[in-house]
Amino acid sequence: MVKDIGELTKKLVQEKFGGIVPKWEKFDMKGTPVLFAKDKNNIYILKGNVIYVQKDGTGYMTCYKCGSDIQSITQIVSLWLKGYNVAGGSGKTKEREMPYCPKCEKEPKKHDVEFSNAA
Ligand SMILES: [Zn+2]
Repeated sequence: MVKDIGELTKKLVQEKFGGIVPKWEKFDMKGTPVLFAKDKNNIYILKGNVIYVQKDGTGYMTCYKCGSDIQSITQIVSLWLKGYNVAGGSGKTKEREMPYCPKCEKEPKKHDVEFSNAA
């Protein structure tokens, strides 16, 4: 049983990359920093303690740990401004699709807040 992301990553490297650690690149997935690596067929996305496997050229992802289809939830993001003594809501919101594994991860919050500096 895979206990943590270190073991999971090792397993992935053994299975998919013949034991050679791939070049993990940083990527911002809708505000969540992730790492990704590619082989011939797939893209592997390291996010928190899970790895998503995406068949290259499709948007379809599965969980490397448990094999579940990756679901996504629509988050409403309130855009807040920083720059004064206190942060304040700008009154604006946006929506974003947040992927998650229904087995390995908690369902993401339906509401989130994003801060930006006041101009
Ligand atoms: Zn999973």
